[in-house]
Order: sequence, then structure tokens, then C-alpha cells
Amino acid sequence: MPRIPDDIIDNIREASDITEVIGEHVQLRQNGNSMVGLCPFHEEKTPSFTVNPGLQMFKCFGCGEGGSVFKFLQKIDNISFYEAVKRLSDRTSIPLPKSSDHSGKTDPHFTDAIFQANELAQRFYHYVLLNDVKGKQALAYLKSRNVSNDIIQQFGIGYAPGNKNEKWDELIRVAQKKQINFETLARSGLALKTKKGNKIDRFRGRLVFPIRNNSNKTIGFGGRVIEAGQEPKYLNSPETPIYQKSRVVYGLDTAKEAIRHSKSAIVVEGYMDVISLAQAGVQNVVATSGTALTEHQCMAIDRFADRIALLFDGDSAGSNAALRGVEVLLSTGIETRIVSLPDEHDPDTFVQSQGVNALQNLLVEGSPLLKFYMQNLAKKYDLKTNSGKTKALGDLVPLLAKTRNALHRDLMLTEISQRLAVDENILRNEISKNMLRHDSSKRTHIDTQISHKSVTSDIPRREKEFIGFLLKNQKFLLKTVSSLKPEYLESKACQRILQKLFELIDQNSPIDSARLTDQPELSDLAPLVSECVTFGFSEDTLTNYWEESISSFHRRYIEKIITEKRQELTEAQIDGNNLKAKNLSEEINKLNTEKHLAN
Ligand SMILES: [Zn+2]
Repeated sequence: MPRIPDDIIDNIREASDITEVIGEHVQLRQNGNSMVGLCPFHEEKTPSFTVNPGLQMFKCFGCGEGGSVFKFLQKIDNISFYEAVKRLSDRTSIPLPKSSDHSGKTDPHFTDAIFQANELAQRFYHYVLLNDVKGKQALAYLKSRNVSNDIIQQFGIGYAPGNKNEKWDELIRVAQKKQINFETLARSGLALKTKKGNKIDRFRGRLVFPIRNNSNKTIGFGGRVIEAGQEPKYLNSPETPIYQKSRVVYGLDTAKEAIRHSKSAIVVEGYMDVISLAQAGVQNVVATSGTALTEHQCMAIDRFADRIALLFDGDSAGSNAALRGVEVLLSTGIETRIVSLPDEHDPDTFVQSQGVNALQNLLVEGSPLLKFYMQNLAKKYDLKTNSGKTKALGDLVPLLAKTRNALHRDLMLTEISQRLAVDENILRNEISKNMLRHDSSKRTHIDTQISHKSVTSDIPRREKEFIGFLLKNQKFLLKTVSSLKPEYLESKACQRILQKLFELIDQNSPIDSARLTDQPELSDLAPLVSECVTFGFSEDTLTNYWEESISSFHRRYIEKIITEKRQELTEAQIDGNNLKAKNLSEEINKLNTEKHLAN
């Protein structure tokens, strides 16, 4: 992993507006000098997540997460520090130093190349659709479905040439002119080699819908045929290092503002559904592209929406994929309604024939999630018999056990016991048994949460406070170097921070808290640093505070050594080692004198 020079990281951090970047993921409101919102890293109903624009840091007082803007991106998008810096480098137009190495899977430049290839392909396909004679038929098809130029632009729709009479390597040749070779296209899922060894474009003779991430970058494509009889009807990019099907929500990049505004999201089955509804003026729509909704996708939508409506085609509401999505939503506890369109309708045909108001009415009347799920169970099992109830509970109990929010679980439990006429306590028992069984699989998740918390909660408050004091009152830093040794502190974590601070002073490097959390040696301590700077100090007592802190740390340190020496002394006396005992007694006396001087 190449190390980016600190000054470039500093420039990018300073040029990035942390409230703006975080604001794209979390709804923030002003509260004094900082902004607060609901933490995206743990479930909560009252906001304990704060962003401090002055310090360029965020901090959650619920789960302990915290750090700089890079740390936030790392955590929320599950990317490396390098990738987070790279992303904001693009956004702020502050370039990173070039590296010539373009190979290797973990090399971030490799993902850069894939982003570039996707970007080029998107622009090429879009151009062909709007300006090339080869795109005429595809454009006519879109017009026949009433898709306007505005919507084509908004979603970046394109046409990949390569029908029967056309060449099959147009993208490959265009890319070559731009110094993007076949290998990069192949790794980006945009080209492939036939069995005979011919190099061809993956998408040919298809309408293509760019799939974009939250930063509006194309990471893959969905392709749809326009001529009947061609197979398969839908073709997606394969998974690449930047495109993981289960994590991406199609259309969220364009829909997120509308979702945030209306607080609700409509989830449909395919790209064309999103586009048809957007064309009809319904903008808060996203799609899962044919797969069942995953937990990642739910969380991504949940960041912007309070409510979800799952909109199914007339024929697919009872399908397995639909039910799997419903199960995921049940365990996340997001308020959801299930809406089934009348038979033979999809969102496009429905809106075109019945209008937007009819759709809005359907959305309001949708079935609550649990009710819908229970209705499906009633189709599977005879819920009047005991054996039918037992089977239904076999499906429901693991689902309830997975539900993380206890309140939500309790509400579901009551409803289920009423609907099945089963004693609530028996149900409760079953669930706790099931939770114990699943504990080991859940443990990694819980452990990381707890470990974050314990990073800071086991540390003496006075040490956290003192580190925060130094960061906020840097005129005391220099004299601290000569008065305090890192080992005087009890907490290993605080020792490491102090050590690093001393090093930075030694190198004459600028010091600020956000910068400190971005130091690779301290990357695990970002939550701690972000907590340290939350303590406040009154101006007139600063010098007193510093002096008292230094002597108290010193005294505690000496006391600790004395205790250790006394232990050794006792052991030496038991062993009858008189010489050692005498030396130890002298050392202890000296330490006692030192301790009094430190007062
Ligand atoms: Zn949190």
C-alpha cells in the first residue's frame, strides 16, 4: 500500500467539509457548535452522533465510534484508509502522487483503473444512444415507453452497440485509444474472451443502465435487450472489486434526496421500474435488480428513509426472492409495507394506465410486513392445527432471534402470539433458546461493538481529559515533553497517543486531533482521540490544571513502582535474600522522597 505524504492528506482533510460528507449519510441538525444526528453505526432512536466542524471530527456517544472524515468513509463504506483519501481527493480535486504500478488485486490503483474503465464505458454508451445511428432503435424503444431525454440524462442510460450486423468490440477499441487495455476491461467485467480466443465486449446490442455508488460513480451496468427473443433478457456486470451486487441499491444515488425529503423509499424489482416511476414524477424509488433484498441494502436505504414500501409485480409477491427480502426487513425492524400490484401489472404498466395517484393509494394501503409474512405462512401451513403452528414457529423463531432491536422484537412477539393463539411466554422461551444457539455466529459482530466501547471505557477519565487538554491547548505541549513520560500514564492506549504527540513535536509537524486519528500507528485509537477532545476546560484555570495533572500522573506512577518494589521486597525477605532486600528498601525510600517532591 503506497503511503500518501502527510501534507497531501492534511490538504485533502482541510478542503473537505466534514458536515457535508457525513450529511450525505446522516441527517444532521445544528446543536450549539456541533451537528447531531442518528448514528449510522448502531441502532438508536435518539441522536448521540455528533459532528464537530471546528475540530473536523465526528463522535458517537452511543457506540463510541469516532475520528476524522476519512475514518467515517472507511467505516460507512467499508473501504481502506487509502480509498477514503482517494475518494476525497477526487472530490476536492487535490491530486494524489502518481504511482506506476497497475497490477495486483489489493493495489488501490487497480480499483482506480476499474473505476476509470466504467466511467469511459458509461460515457461511450450514453453517447452512442443519443448521437449514433446504431443507438436509434434503442432510443426509439425508450421513447415508446415515454422515457424523456431528461430522465435518460439523469440516469446516464446508454446503448451498447453490437447487434448481429455490428462489430462486437467497439468498446474495446474505444478504450484502447484511451490507454485502457483489454485486461483492465476484462477485470471490470466490460469485456471477455470467447472460447476461440476472440476479444469481445460483454454488453452488445443492449440498453445499458449504469449502476452507481453513493458518490455518483459508475461501478457496473445492467443491460436489457430491446429485441424480443434475445437471451438473456437482463444481463448484469459480474462482481468486481468495486461492484458487489448484494451491497448496491440501484438508483439510490439519484433517489436519496427525494427519499430524505419524503422520509420514505419505494423498493421495486428492476431498473426500468425505477426509471418509469421517476418519469412519472415518483423520485424516491430504488431497485434491488432482481435479487432478494439483503441486510446491507436495507441499511443503505435506512440511512435516508424512515419507512420502506416494497412494491411487487402482480405475479411475484409470493415468490421466494420476495419472501427472503421480507425476512431481512423483519429482522432489521424498519417500518415496511408490502404492496402487490394487480395481476399482470408491473410499476410501469400500472402508472401508465392508472396514474400516479392510484399508485400512491396502493402504497398507503399496503400490508404491514409481519401481517404479510404471516399470511404467507398461512398459505404454507394450516395454522389452525398444532402441527401447523409448530411449523410456522419453526420459521418465525429464528427470525425473531435475529432481530437486534429488543423493543421491536417484543412487539413482533406479542403480535405473533396473538395471531397464532400461542402463549407469549412459551414463545419467549423458544426465542431465548434460539438466540443462545446463534450466539456464536453473532459474536464477532457484538465483540467489535464491545471492544470499541471498552477501548475508551476502561481508561481513566483523567488521562483522556489530559490528552484532550493538550490537543486543545497546544502551548502546554512543549513543556509537557520535558515534564511527563508516556509511561507515567496507566492506559497503554493513552501512552501511545502521548508518544505519537511527542514524536510529532519532535518533527515539528502540525498537530490537530483529526490529523492525529489519521496517523497509521493510531488508526485503532480514532474513537478514543475523538472522545478525548470532547472535554471542556475553563480558560482561567488552564495552568493550574496542567500543573496538577502532571504532578498527579507522576505521583501515581511512583506509587505504582513502590507497590511493585514492596512486592519484590516481601518475596526477597521470604527467600532470605538479605542483600536484595536491603537494596530494595533503599530504592523504596528514594522513591518515597521523590513522591513527596512531586506533590
Ligand atoms: Zn453509534
